[in-house]
Amino acid sequence: MIRADLHIHTILSPCGDIEMTPSFIVQRAKEKGLDLIAITDHNSTRQCEEVVRIGKREGVEVLCGAEITTKEEVHVIALVDYSMRGLLQEWIDSYLPKIPNNEEYFGYQLVVNEMEEVLYQEPTLLISALNRSIDQTEEFIHSIGGLFIPAHIDKPQNSLISQLGFVPPGLKADALELSKRADLPGLISACGWLKEYCFLHSSDAHYPADFGDIFTFFDIEKPNFEFLKGALKNNKVLL
Ligand SMILES: [Zn+2]
Ligand SMILES: [Zn+2]
Repeated sequence: MIRADLHIHTILSPCGDIEMTPSFIVQRAKEKGLDLIAITDHNSTRQCEEVVRIGKREGVEVLCGAEITTKEEVHVIALVDYSMRGLLQEWIDSYLPKIPNNEEYFGYQLVVNEMEEVLYQEPTLLISALNRSIDQTEEFIHSIGGLFIPAHIDKPQNSLISQLGFVPPGLKADALELSKRADLPGLISACGWLKEYCFLHSSDAHYPADFGDIFTFFDIEKPNFEFLKGALKNNKVLL
């Protein structure tokens, strides 16, 4: 069994704590026995590479992704194969409104290396909604072989249920993510079709203390993107 946390923010997210650096995240994942983690900053993949690099050395498999905000203000986790990260980033860049970040108000948006030197400072505010609907987002992510996972679907903000009022039947999601306090039986009794989906628990960590104790078990041989994809397809997931 593989332990995975597929929703982690870094120092690049304006709301991510300054301590959520690549080295800290890999170290913490290792200490907590996580085999697989995904870096999912708001509307950016730019911190993934460094975390992947450190993870490789330390024996923690790191996936590239982003938490995309759709036009409807729904948060969606997009995970892609490492070779597709550039395409995902280009797509985000073409639809993210060019609103400058106000660091004092929203927080810093930094890409740092292992030594915690700043490599890049993102000038565009990353928490705006992309000019793409949830359906267009799903279509694009699947077109590059990625995984499309609506985030924290039960939350009162930025979720499918808060923004649309329900989970649309027939939604082509690879899995649905639940927040810490989700009532899954209650959700399924309200929307019966939800029982067809795989559910995940992820930390959505923004602060060091959020991270390490919330994860999902996957019945896969190796912690990597291809095996994860297979596990979601065949529902080899244990909450
Ligand atoms: Zn979110
Ligand atoms: Zn998040």
